[in-house]
Formats: sequence, C-alpha cells, structure tokens
Amino acid sequence: MQYLPISLNIHGRPVLVVGGGEVAARKARHLLRAGGEVSVIASEPGSLVIEMRDDGQLHVIDSAFRPEFLRGVALVVAATDNTFVNRNVYELAQAQNIPVNVVDQPELCSFIFPAVVDRSPVTIAISTNGASPVLARALKSKIENLIPSAYGQLADLFAAFRKTVKLRFRTGDERRWFWQETLDGPVTELALAGRMDEARELLEARIVAPDRAGGKGEVYLVGAGPGDPDLLTLRAARLLHKADVVFYDRLVAPEILDFCRRDAELVFVGKAKGHHSIAQEGITRALIEAASRGQKVVRLKGGDPFVFGRGGEETQALAAHRIPFQVVPGITAANGCGAYSGIPLTHRDFAQSVTFVTGHTRDGRLDLDWHKLAGSNQTLVFYMGLANAREICAQLICHGSPSTTPAALVENGTTPSQRVITGDLATLPDDIETMNASSPALMIVGEVVRLRESLAWFVGMGLEGKVEHVAIADAAGVNVAR
Ligand code: SAH
Repeated sequence: MQYLPISLNIHGRPVLVVGGGEVAARKARHLLRAGGEVSVIASEPGSLVIEMRDDGQLHVIDSAFRPEFLRGVALVVAATDNTFVNRNVYELAQAQNIPVNVVDQPELCSFIFPAVVDRSPVTIAISTNGASPVLARALKSKIENLIPSAYGQLADLFAAFRKTVKLRFRTGDERRWFWQETLDGPVTELALAGRMDEARELLEARIVAPDRAGGKGEVYLVGAGPGDPDLLTLRAARLLHKADVVFYDRLVAPEILDFCRRDAELVFVGKAKGHHSIAQEGITRALIEAASRGQKVVRLKGGDPFVFGRGGEETQALAAHRIPFQVVPGITAANGCGAYSGIPLTHRDFAQSVTFVTGHTRDGRLDLDWHKLAGSNQTLVFYMGLANAREICAQLICHGSPSTTPAALVENGTTPSQRVITGDLATLPDDIETMNASSPALMIVGEVVRLRESLAWFVGMGLEGKVEHVAIADAAGVNVAR
C-alpha cells in the first residue's frame, strides 16, 4: 500500500487552495463539502471561484503565493499552472509537515484525493494511488450503483441509537450480534424504502425485545425483467444477494440467479401449462412456511410481478398470514420487447393508449371485449397469446380492425435469441406458423409496429430468409435503415 487511507477532520479548520482556475474551484468545493474554512490565493480568480466568494463560501486572497500563508493551515492544495509556484508550495508545506497536494503531480503530493462515494455519514473513498483517476471514477460509479442513497439515512438512524444499545447490551459481542441482526432485517429494509418512522419504531421495539421484534422472515416479490439480465433493478440485485431462499420461475434468466448468495437455496417453481392452480397454492404455502421459519425469501418472477404474474394473489395470501413483504417492480415484457424491437408502444401520431391483454384462454375461451380492442389509435400487447394468435387476429378483424393493421410477434424479447416477425392481422398467423415461433412470445398490434422499419436497433438472431432492418445513425445523428 503506497498511501495510507485515513479520513481527515477539517471541519472549521483553515485550508488553502493556491490557484483560482477551474481545477482549483473543484478542489475548493470538495474541501467545502468536508466543512473546511477555505481560502483561495489568486490574483485573477476564475468565474467559479468568484461565484463561491460572492456566495460567502470562501475567501479569496488577491496576492501571489507567500510562505506566511501556510501558517496554521490544516492542508494545502496547489492548482496553479506555474510549476515553480507549485513546487515551492510543496517544499514549504513538506518542511512544516502540512499535508500537500499538487494537482496532477503525484511526485509533489504528500496526500492524494480519492474518488468519493458520499452517502454521509457513510463515505467510501476509492484510490488507485494516482495510477488512474479514470479507473477510480469508474469504480466509484459502480459502487454508487450498489449502494442506495438511503444508506446515509440508515447510518444516521443507527447513530441515534448507539448509546441506547450500548446501555442495553453490555458486551461487545452482544452489541455486534444486535447490530448485525438489525442490519440484515426489516429495519434496514424499511429505512432503505424511505419509511424512516416505521424503521425507528421497529428498531426501538427490537432494543426492548430483540428476539420478538422483527425476527420474523420476510418475502420480497421481485420482478426479474424480461430476459436481458442487465435490465434487473438495483433493488432486485440487492435483495437477491440478501435472500436465504429464492423461488424462481421458468422465465427468469439463469444469469440473474448469479446475484444470489452462494449458500442461498434456489427452488425452481416453473409452472407447467394447465397445472396452474395446484402449483400456485403449493408456491404460496412454501413462501409462507419459509418466511415463518424466519428466512428472507425472494419470490423471483419474470417481467413485473404485478403484470400477469400472479403477484396479486401471492401478496394477498402473505397479507392474510401477516407475513411482511415488499414488491419490487420489474421491466415487464411489453416494455422490454417494445424497446428491443424498435416499436414504441405509444406515439403521438399513431397510438394514444396501450393495453396489455392476456391472450391465454380460460376454459378454452378468449373472453375479451373485442369491440373495444378493435378501435383505432391504440396499441395492443398480447401476453401469453402465441397459441391463440390466429384467433386473436381473426376476432380483431371480425370486430372492425382493418386486416392490414400492422402486427408483430416478438419471441424471446431482449435476449440474444430475440426474433421479431412483422406483418399484419391477415398475414401474421401464417408467418408465425411458418417460422415455427415458440414461447415466450408477445404480440404487438397497432400502427406503431410500422416504426420498427426505421427504429430497429437491437440485433437478435434475425430471421432466415428475411432482411432485418437495423437502425444506424448517420453522420448527422439521424437514424437510417440499413
Ligand atoms: N410478469 C411477466 C409476464 C408473465 S406472463 C411480465 O411482466 O412480463 C408470461 C408471458 O409474458 C409470456 O407468455 C409472454 O407472452 C410474455 N413474455 C415474458 N417474457 C418474454 C420475452 N422475453 N419475450 C417475449 N414475451 C415474453
């Protein structure tokens, strides 16, 4: 380790920035965020420094650098374009053991600024020891994505109860156990969901009776998105990592299961067609049993749990059994397939509404309001409609949709094996058969389907024998079809 990472308290302490340009202003702002009393030495300060001065945030000393300016300062940053001044600042500061940083000159630094993820009071500093600031920034953005902004609130909450917990639990081991259990439990989930009052109440209850309050398991109903693992939400990834047991569906991409802890139990509960109700009861019972054992349970569903996902029924059962739960939305197949096939679901010129419809038959009948669905200026998205595609198209035509209404079938949307078959209500059923389309597939009906000609951008495996349209940007940034 070339540098020792420490967190320096500069609250209310004088700190010095030599130079008044943009870089100096950036450093000054950083120091101000940590509470330093910033003075900038610059005879010709730039607009940013002037703005901060006029705002009363810092002092500007209109002078060339002089050694006496270093007297009593907690640290100094040199950001001038004069190498002689920079070196002078460095040497004088070193001689007095004042931490010094000359911007972009690691050899003239006794300390360096790490990239910071600020979730105050939680701060995470990332340093490459000056080797690559770009890499440090990339890591910073990765960590920022991993750590929800509400972690700061969580830390504040814990801080407010530190003393009480210290009085309640005498030994360090007991306290560690208490905080670890709290961190892994519903207090944290409430705080991260922004429900601070409830989090505080539950934490208070846990301090009084740690075994009873919040020791219960929880169920997280999580949407896994339509297929591309990159479309998972940050919250879904976090909860997957936390789960003791994960019940997952047939439509969940295998890569998404890699987010689970290695010791988590993974239970496949993919349902065979036609056996829904029995399997569904069994799944609901399993969720309740696992949570009642105190486990953190993830119920992972393709797309969004509340869109044709039976999430409603499952949460009703959990509520009836007083099992705490959360629902994490996912990108539903309609959104995923629309985006990845270049078919906007609404468009001011073509569709003022979009309807998600189930194409799945109940008791062998497609019981839908066909009159409404056959109206113009709308988009229809049929889920689970592959087997009934011919009947769906026929019913729409029969109820007044022109047979030339554009229609598309998106198979395995958002995945590398995505295939899109386009045509109209008259031609699509035959094409689906000829192309041997398979599940999961979604049918989009409406004028918006035409836009794919110019908006297709995602290249799936394509259709043999048919030219795929791929949108590429020309020099002016306008999409043109290739
Ligand atoms: N809850 C899910 C839908 C489950 S119903 C969601 O919000 O997306 C299952 C149906 O979703 C499938 O029959 C199919 O119509 C559609 N579907 C799911 N994933 C799909 C995908 N990657 N490509 C096309 N259709 C998909």
